Amino acid sequence: MGSGLFGSVFAQQAIARGKSVIIIDKRDHIGGNVFTDKVGDINIHMYGPHVFHTDSIDIWKYVNKYASFDNYIHRPKVKYKDSVYSFPINLLTLHQLWGINTPEEGQKKLQSVRLEIDNPANLEEWSLSQVGEEIYSTFIRGYTKKQWKRDPKELPASIIKRLPIRFTFDDNYFNHRYQGIPTQGYTHMVENMIDGVPVELGTDYYSRDDWIRYAHTILFTGRIDEYYNRVHGSLPYRSLTFQHELHKGDYQGASHVNYTEESVPYTRITEHKHFERTDSNNTIITFEYPENEESDSDPYYPIDTAKNRDIYNKYRELTLQEKDTIFGGRLAEYKYYDMHQVIGAALQKAKTIL
Ligand code: FAD
Ligand code: UDP
Repeated sequence: MGSGLFGSVFAQQAIARGKSVIIIDKRDHIGGNVFTDKVGDINIHMYGPHVFHTDSIDIWKYVNKYASFDNYIHRPKVKYKDSVYSFPINLLTLHQLWGINTPEEGQKKLQSVRLEIDNPANLEEWSLSQVGEEIYSTFIRGYTKKQWKRDPKELPASIIKRLPIRFTFDDNYFNHRYQGIPTQGYTHMVENMIDGVPVELGTDYYSRDDWIRYAHTILFTGRIDEYYNRVHGSLPYRSLTFQHELHKGDYQGASHVNYTEESVPYTRITEHKHFERTDSNNTIITFEYPENEESDSDPYYPIDTAKNRDIYNKYRELTLQEKDTIFGGRLAEYKYYDMHQVIGAALQKAKTIL
């Protein structure tokens, strides 16, 4: 159940072992949140910008069986008031902010602006202890508040620890060894993975209760709280609305610009043609607006607080008692998985179960 990356990789592994598989998904397309739609010669990342990155040669080889990847490196920019900054924080950012020219000057400067906080307890304290007030308020506070609809003091530092802080001019967003974008889009990659598997789109799992008559095992990749009728309470998700616009020419000169001011209602603008080499005269941009948790929009990001983890653990206990149903993916495991992690988890689950 679910043709996102977890469901599709698991299905691919099952057919490779001679099982017969059917995939259902309530959406009208495959791929879950990595779905790309081709408009003219531009692949639109319909659920937000997706850049593939991993340190695992096995996972890199796995995805390269189903797609050819180009050598795209993610180098987003930040717009704050009237200035554009290099991001993630690197020597060029420190140069733009303070005229810093060398790694040593950069380290000294950050040392002087860091706040001394013993055992930082949340995202704000951790950020202040690493980069000080000016960088925190320029790059982090507004963006994080908008994105998570919560004060950064209420969020775990783990959310931001994945961003590098570098004392070199390297502005690669990721530290991983392998990175790229599938040249024909993610949908094409998923199509290749599940080639030959029947897929029923527009089919909600809850539209019937006798799926088990058709399959002796069900893989469920939807919301875990929904599966158990929220008996232990709701698990909140951060949601987003995407607003796509067609323009002529080049809108912003980069695939991805973050707007870190709290007063700007969107968090980022994606310009899809910069993910690929295309000389299209048109361009499609996408504004990303954070949504309230209680909105009806799709669930995207689990919110990893201690309270929510406790709720999730109660649901996990229930899953361990299931005989014919297994669970996996961002929604069923309530885990902030990136693509390589979800693929790794699905491959591992397939190895164990199949
Ligand atoms: P999903 O893709 O959510 O798949 C679940 C599927 O189940 C969906 O297709 C859904 O329709 C279906 N489903 C749910 N409920 C039902 C039901 N009741 N009946 C039938 N079907 C149902 N990762 C990276 O590595 N790099 C990035 O740059 C990156 N950027 C991201 C940007 C955004 C805005 C978001 C939201 C995520 C990003 N990710 C990124 C993470 C990536 O999208 C996920 O790791 C991956 O898509 C998770 O796959 P999944 O199969 O677990 O879940
Ligand atoms: N972040 C920030 N400013 C930025 C970009 C990111 O403060 O310009 C913080 C924010 O809290 C975000 C976290 O870093 O949730 C992780 O960013 P990432 O780009 O990895 O988020 P995702 O791709 O999951 O949206």
